[in-house]
Amino acid sequence: MFGVRGIIVTMDEYSRVFWDGVVVVDSDSGVIVDVGDLGLIRDYGVEVVYGDSRSIVMPGLINTHTHSPMSIFRGFVSGVSGFDWLRRVWDIEAQLKPRHVYVGALLSIISMIRSGTTAFADHYFYAEEIAKAVVETGVRAVLAKTVIDLHEGPPKHSLKESLSFAKKYFNFSDSLSTMIGVHSLYSCSIETLREAVSISMDTGIPIHMHLSESRDEVKFVKESYGVTPIKLADDLGILGAKHLLAHVSYVVDEYELNLLGRVKARIAYAPFTKMRGGQAIAPIMDLMVRGASISLATDGPLSCGDLDMFREMKFMLAAQNLKYGSASALKPIDVIKASTVDAAMNLGFKNLGFIGKGAKADLIVLNAWKSKVIPIKDVYYTILYCLNGGDVDTVIINGKPIMVNGVIRVVDEEKTIEEAVKVAGELEDLTINPQ
Ligand SMILES: [Zn+2]
Repeated sequence: MFGVRGIIVTMDEYSRVFWDGVVVVDSDSGVIVDVGDLGLIRDYGVEVVYGDSRSIVMPGLINTHTHSPMSIFRGFVSGVSGFDWLRRVWDIEAQLKPRHVYVGALLSIISMIRSGTTAFADHYFYAEEIAKAVVETGVRAVLAKTVIDLHEGPPKHSLKESLSFAKKYFNFSDSLSTMIGVHSLYSCSIETLREAVSISMDTGIPIHMHLSESRDEVKFVKESYGVTPIKLADDLGILGAKHLLAHVSYVVDEYELNLLGRVKARIAYAPFTKMRGGQAIAPIMDLMVRGASISLATDGPLSCGDLDMFREMKFMLAAQNLKYGSASALKPIDVIKASTVDAAMNLGFKNLGFIGKGAKADLIVLNAWKSKVIPIKDVYYTILYCLNGGDVDTVIINGKPIMVNGVIRVVDEEKTIEEAVKVAGELEDLTINPQ
């Protein structure tokens, strides 16, 4: 057992904060034994190994929608969004080999660990390679193997292949599980989507897909099927199945808002990528009050740059407050919930995303003794307004030290960067970016 000391932000059901507290962790079981004031050090006879009175300790952040391997062609496409963006991306992805996916995933996992993300949901090709990187590094992930069957270009995985991957790794361990990876309404055939729903209903494996994410998607679905994306997703049974829906930027009316609330839609909201692409700001507050379950995400590192969830948290707060014309439509604590405890729920993880007795010990320790941070009056304000991924010093996942004082222990970071530069060089940049 060991102790982690600091301002403990538990994100538990009572939103407890211990201003100089300690988390007692059992490294063998990877579980939190207790949390409370410094008296616990004596009670349990533990030594404080990580953190001090100048640290902030909080649950590891959970990124609920990304495409981690896209880091190796980061910067190849910018200045476009919607179908223009996708056409350029699919040209690049046509060249992908499993090796590119493995190295890209590893590179992204390192950057996620560095910025305090301890679990993520991924949607990509050659997902077996991502599973390998996940197991090697000890992070948690829910992986979906992407199926696109309406377009040429990206690697061709049949629904059968995606399902066989999903079944093989579903609830594989406390750290690794899967979803069914149909890409979207505009890139998968109706037959494929129907089949995915039917298998999801039979097996209980959720569907992970993009939904109503761009003006191009809304136009395509209306022209092809005569209804809006959300109506089509409902008609196909996707909303009635277990699911994780990325974006949901365009919700056309009260009927659709109520529908998404009624089915308790699990939505991965990635504000930065949609705002930088000039798309709509999703009506997150309207969805939340109706019962939808909202979690935060960055989307892939090609569309969002790095995978820093602290940046994303700032965008979530600012985007929603701007949309609803109020300085308190969302509060910092709401955003942190969407990045921890609510995110764990959307990904199907149990006892994760908060600090409490019996919870899984995924913790991050940040150095708060900095000119840009002090004084700390409201620790939720501090996390949202003052900190970023670079302030994360130590990362513990499943009770194991993954990064200590800025040094990653589970993978050779330098070697991975060198390898990533090499494999990125193998990909020809076929895109033309508008200047
Ligand atoms: Zn995406």
